Amino acid sequence: MSESTYKCVNCGERASALYRTYGPSVLKLTKCESCKGVVDKYIEYDPVIVMIDLVLMSKEAQRHIIYNTEFKSYWKLFIILIMLETYGVWRNDSLFNIVINTICDIRNNSTINSTHIALPIKLSVAEPWASDCKGWIHEEKESMDLFIWEKDFYVQFLSIFAGIIVFITTIHLLMNIFKKIRFQNAVSLISVLKSFSLSNMSLLFTLPMLVWGNNETPPETRLLHYLMVFMYSFVFFYNVFQVLYEIPKIITVFILSVSYIVKYMTIFHMTPLIRRIIS
Ligand SMILES: [Zn+2]
Repeated sequence: MSESTYKCVNCGERASALYRTYGPSVLKLTKCESCKGVVDKYIEYDPVIVMIDLVLMSKEAQRHIIYNTEFKSYWKLFIILIMLETYGVWRNDSLFNIVINTICDIRNNSTINSTHIALPIKLSVAEPWASDCKGWIHEEKESMDLFIWEKDFYVQFLSIFAGIIVFITTIHLLMNIFKKIRFQNAVSLISVLKSFSLSNMSLLFTLPMLVWGNNETPPETRLLHYLMVFMYSFVFFYNVFQVLYEIPKIITVFILSVSYIVKYMTIFHMTPLIRRIIS
């Protein structure tokens, strides 16, 4: 890691070093030239405390991870979290499935008591959306052969992977265009991937429902849980991208919203498309 990549966790000012050593047992933390605080107090902290501060969305802890640590294993986190997201969608147990099953009015044994919510008004879905809606109608898993069931996991994985690539590309392009307009330096793709993996950890909060939710869990409870996780996740992404791109708050919210919409649109169209191609 080159020296100039360090940043003060309090104000975001660049720093040449995090600490200086004076002899074998004397170590002094660097002071920030801009805010006069300690550049990175977290290098002395226990990782558990850093984790707790991350969950509480502290910007200082986020700067520490993104700029002042190597965070080499971000790509493992990246893959594991895509698998987790895939697992939820494949099991027909996520906010995305609830929205699709409700809007497309998909009612069968696997959705009727778990992810389909009866709306007071009947929505009419126009083409080409309607045919992609049909692509989301699952065969009943009980009657399906294990091989097809497993194959569907890979289909869902590809689809979500594509959605995430589109999400990251949209954010990165729009943010960097905005930064260019304001004559600021562009952000590197590696930092974006690290920030994405870090923020995507908020997906872990879907685990309680995935583990303990069952056929008796009403769709409204699922909806509430996943909606809360989604909001937490949105705020987490917002905070991390604020730290990373340092552009006005309203622009970050706008670009993040656009990227989310583009991501879910991609997944919505991609799954039926891949299913058509391979069948
Ligand atoms: Zn500072």
